[in-house]
Amino acid sequence: MSNVVKLNSVRHARLQDRARGVTLCQSGFHKWKPLAGQRFDVRQGRLVTTERCERCGVERTILT
Ligand SMILES: [Zn+2]
Repeated sequence: MSNVVKLNSVRHARLQDRARGVTLCQSGFHKWKPLAGQRFDVRQGRLVTTERCERCGVERTILT
């Protein structure tokens, strides 16, 4: 039985951690991670870097 309690608390901690991350995302603090493979936008002559938030999956593109 103690095992079950332990598992539940671990799961609860993980949920709390995720909730904290989503709160950060909603505040605009995303955890950006560049996606593999960069595109080059010929029309604008700039390097287009695509990044995705590890937590909520939102994507953004940056022109450099
Ligand atoms: Zn995010």
